[in-house]
Amino acid sequence: MDLHGVTSVLRPRARDELAGLDGHDGLLAGGTSLMSDPNPSLRRLVDLTALDWPDLVIDDDGLEIGATCTIERLITAAYPAHWRAAPLFEQSAHTLLASYKIWHTATVGGNICLGLPAGAMISMCSALDAELLVWHADGSDSVHSTAEIVTGNAQTSLATGDVLRSIRFPAAALVQRTALRKASYAHLGRSGAVVIARRTPTGVVVSVTAATRRPYVLEVASTDPAVIARQVLAAIPADGFHTDAHGTAPWRVSVTEYLVGDAVAEVTS
Ligand SMILES: Cc1cc2nc3c(=O)[nH]c(=O)nc-3n(C[C@H](O)[C@H](O)[C@H](O)COP(=O)(O)OP(=O)(O)OC[C@H]3O[C@@H](n4cnc5c(N)ncnc54)[C@H](O)[C@@H]3O)c2cc1C
Repeated sequence: MDLHGVTSVLRPRARDELAGLDGHDGLLAGGTSLMSDPNPSLRRLVDLTALDWPDLVIDDDGLEIGATCTIERLITAAYPAHWRAAPLFEQSAHTLLASYKIWHTATVGGNICLGLPAGAMISMCSALDAELLVWHADGSDSVHSTAEIVTGNAQTSLATGDVLRSIRFPAAALVQRTALRKASYAHLGRSGAVVIARRTPTGVVVSVTAATRRPYVLEVASTDPAVIARQVLAAIPADGFHTDAHGTAPWRVSVTEYLVGDAVAEVTS
């Protein structure tokens, strides 16, 4: 789509060129969402890909993903064999309605910043204890959990001028077993519920997304699927589940309970 109000494009090469961003600036990553709406308030595009951030940095402490890394690059890279959670990257991509053609362009950061309940990169980041580094307009930085950034249905805590710079997964989470489950009305349809379980030394971490307006992450000191399913549901307020064309709230509650039990059974077996 043409963005009719846009009259200029900034291709910043360094952080200081991001100073002074305002509400008329559209932060452009892959553009698969930004270009699909009229966005009449936008006057300028700021092409974040010009900053040339490294896509993936692997070190002993874990994995750092540049926010502009495409989903395709994330899921096709080689990772250390002992990172048992690495298959989760591709499994998460497959929960998107978007197919491989979109993965080629869509970025990990763009998916998070859009804040959709069906944001698969949000599910993945929630489940792997991601630390999200945000650059603020005043030159300061801050680091947040996924749930601190994605606060509601298409809502984030990012302020005007904030730029998501990177996502870091700690090695401790990457070496643990994970299992992902998705429910949707149609086989390849938009996610109605996504549950990811991760086995820790003391129990299981469960993340619930898509069923809820924002991510919910809970660590339960148990390995009993039924106990964990009950505790996860008890931790999510009734109005946390939402109703839209991809599922009613009561259906989402039911399938979430089932998916939690099923995912936990896999990582604890
Ligand atoms: C056919 C199709 C199917 C889709 N299916 C899904 C789906 O199932 N689930 C889903 O969640 N989305 C879906 N999308 C929407 C979108 O493609 C994805 O969310 C994608 O990951 C967005 O990434 P992007 O890099 O293209 O973001 P862009 O379109 O470039 O940006 C998206 C938003 O995030 C902001 N932004 C981007 N990067 C940053 C950053 N680093 N810092 C701050 N703000 C930033 C932009 O300003 C914009 O507001 C679909 C799109 C299409 C066309």
